[in-house]
Amino acid sequence: MTIEQLNIDDADEQVLYADVALPVPVPMLYTYSIPAEYRGNIKERTRVIVQFGKKRIVTGIVEKVHGNRPEIYAAKPILEVLDTEPVITRMQMEVMKWMANYYMCTFGEVINAALPSGLKLSSESRIQLHPHNDWNDSEYPFDDRELLILKALENNDSLTYKEAAEAIDQKSALKFIKSLIQKDVIIIYEEVREKYKPKIVKKIRLAASYAADEKTLQSLFAELEKRPKQSDILLKYLQMVPVYQKPERNEAGIPKSTINETGLSVSSLNTLIKNKIFEEFEEIISRFEENTEVFEASPLSEIQEKAKQEILDIFEEKSTALLHGITGSGKTEIYISLIQEALDNGLQVLYLLPEIALTAQIVNRLKVVFGDRMGVYHSKFSDNERVEVWMGLLDGRFDFIVGVRSAIFLPFADLGLIIVDEEHENSYKQYDPAPRYHARDVALFLAHKHGGKTILGSATPSVESFYNAKIGKYGLVTINSRYGDAQLPQMVFADIRTEKKRKTATGNFSSVLIEALGGILEKKEQAIVFQNRRGYSNFITCDDCGYTPECPRCAVSLTYHQYKNQLNCHYCGHKEPVPVTCPACGSQRIRTVGFGTEKIEEDLKLIFPDAKIQRMDLETTRAKYAYQNIIKDFEDGKIDILVGTQMVSKGLDFDRVSLVSVFDIDRMIHFPDFRSMERTYQLTTQVSGRAGRKDIAGKVIIQTGDPEQPILKLISQQNYNTFFDLEMQEREKFNYPPFSRMIKILVRSKDKKLSKYAAEFLGNILKEDLGTYRVLGPHEPIVNKIRDKYLMEIYLKIERKYNINSVKEKIKVAYLEALRKKDLTQVEFITDVDPY
Ligand code: ADP
Ligand code: ZN
Ligand code: ZN
Repeated sequence: MTIEQLNIDDADEQVLYADVALPVPVPMLYTYSIPAEYRGNIKERTRVIVQFGKKRIVTGIVEKVHGNRPEIYAAKPILEVLDTEPVITRMQMEVMKWMANYYMCTFGEVINAALPSGLKLSSESRIQLHPHNDWNDSEYPFDDRELLILKALENNDSLTYKEAAEAIDQKSALKFIKSLIQKDVIIIYEEVREKYKPKIVKKIRLAASYAADEKTLQSLFAELEKRPKQSDILLKYLQMVPVYQKPERNEAGIPKSTINETGLSVSSLNTLIKNKIFEEFEEIISRFEENTEVFEASPLSEIQEKAKQEILDIFEEKSTALLHGITGSGKTEIYISLIQEALDNGLQVLYLLPEIALTAQIVNRLKVVFGDRMGVYHSKFSDNERVEVWMGLLDGRFDFIVGVRSAIFLPFADLGLIIVDEEHENSYKQYDPAPRYHARDVALFLAHKHGGKTILGSATPSVESFYNAKIGKYGLVTINSRYGDAQLPQMVFADIRTEKKRKTATGNFSSVLIEALGGILEKKEQAIVFQNRRGYSNFITCDDCGYTPECPRCAVSLTYHQYKNQLNCHYCGHKEPVPVTCPACGSQRIRTVGFGTEKIEEDLKLIFPDAKIQRMDLETTRAKYAYQNIIKDFEDGKIDILVGTQMVSKGLDFDRVSLVSVFDIDRMIHFPDFRSMERTYQLTTQVSGRAGRKDIAGKVIIQTGDPEQPILKLISQQNYNTFFDLEMQEREKFNYPPFSRMIKILVRSKDKKLSKYAAEFLGNILKEDLGTYRVLGPHEPIVNKIRDKYLMEIYLKIERKYNINSVKEKIKVAYLEALRKKDLTQVEFITDVDPY
């Protein structure tokens, strides 16, 4: 029986229960009973509120309604039904189930990742007054209890659900909260998230009484005759706004700052406002409205047109095309043209970008072409904004979404095209918490489900994707020249080891780099100095005994932050002051080692005291707009040298950058990871791509201790194909992906011995089931303790032809077997499929 029939057949008494998927890590659905008032009225894929456990109230998704009483427990009633129509599409449901299955997590964990918390009322959520809809002005009536809640919110910044219930002296306030949300006077947010803060501008306009007719205005001028400063302002305003010809322009007003900028008197303006001649009001503006450059969808060059045609030809036969185009080859323009076509055909489009590449630069560029049909889904957005995009897709307001990895969860109805830009980027992979998914791989499945097409684009494709193109699974399109024949930068290797021996280096800066930077400053051009994030933290150590402070909870060295004069743990956030004397031996000879961005910035400031130097890394970009602000300052020439991590390497286009330096390539090459060569090639190429666009020829200086390393030559020649062939030989030799699939198992507990024992136990079962050579470990990871829990790792390396599903089944059985042992019940097993 279908749900539609159920709705018609109201009297059907069979439908007493609903199976509900909850956003909690339990592997099964729970059955709840449907209270009489909702009976026959609950649709699948709508949200309901239920009690889970003794205290928690959570939002769940109705999977199925039926008449079967659960056998082993008494069904609790559904507390509240939140939607009359599904908020999740059938397709989403299927994709989410596939994800739970493929990535070996629970369906609830996938739901939890998928739904913006605005769609997940739960007992952990808080409510606050709506920041721009004052309830006092609301057109809706409020009942007594709603008023009590509103008043409580005026006195407190925010309330939990429980506090709201207490405020009205009831067990639950859900009903009233829901009603207040519908009346748009309060909003919910999760405590950990930031609150919704709209961007506001102060504006002014001529008061309606003066704007209405010219006579009043004339007498006003007469009145202001003795106050020239005020009448100047009035005149200026009338010059800017045709009050009578275009009353709507007066209605819209102008930013108050416009008057300030003309140099007219601010206090006179305030007097005019006080005397009700001008009205002051606030307006919420979109974060992207600012600095929108006018951009017309440019006609494609011949090379771009050809690449586009090749992609379309591939789509006749295959569903995936890999676009391998060097940096600056103009891939974005090709995407724009293909997006346009898909939209014209009435299909939806998803454009995925890695977290750090989703800058205002690219969003603005797309916004001008696609306008209001385009929704942006970004993790730095507040939840309300995410809910807006979600709902906007459901109600058809958007048919084009630009977003980061979590955008794959959005409710698309008919997805014709997915673009995965910078497909090699590892920020598409979610490491923690579950689902530990790779958005590129989910995107391929999503497109397949919709019968749509996928373009994977990159200047440095992942080895996997390039391999798939080579074996014909994907079509391959290559662009080898930059748009407008802009030149590729010239690459120079600075031999830092020799320079140090000959004493021509200054600290860790080669004379080659210092001279080049000096030249840049002289010519008033700009430079980027790149230092890889991994393995570069600064730490402190004692010169006498070698002691290095470690985090008491996670077996890692604490990172030194000069700016706050503090030691920090990057895993758990633990902080402590820098010791004055060595805690181990009492010596005062404590110094910093390591070479992070902060240290580079500091040293550069000593070498070039007059240069404007700015750092861009996790630390300096934590605030919501910090990233955009740094980019803007750099674009505006307020920064000469930008020192940064991965963040500087992505999708940014700066006209005046003529020098890029990779500060230390060797540690990237030698990082202990089978992907270190691939990452080095990718990162170095990407960051080099920032040098010399448009008319300035670029130069890249790579500091290394050994300029003869083969990979350096391949990078400088942009010889991806040879790099790929060599890399494949290595991968084959050690049976790494793409020759195998990997699954990582993390064993975690508070007791070191227990973690070891559990890992051994599990490892032995798996070795017996799968053969010893497929099971690596168990071993202790380099960082063997995080947040007071001890870790052990097991890697499974499964060759391509082996049935991976049977492996997953075996893992599940092994977990159950382990958990059946009494002493192992406290141990957690975490599975990461394709753990790259
Ligand atoms: P990629 O993403 O392949 O590295 P971009 O898309 O950033 O390259 O393009 C490089 C530069 O060339 C950008 O400044 C872009 O504005 C410009 N460009 C690319 N295609 C065109 C075109 N068809 N018309 C005008 N400018 C273009
Ligand atoms: Zn010491
Ligand atoms: Zn720690």
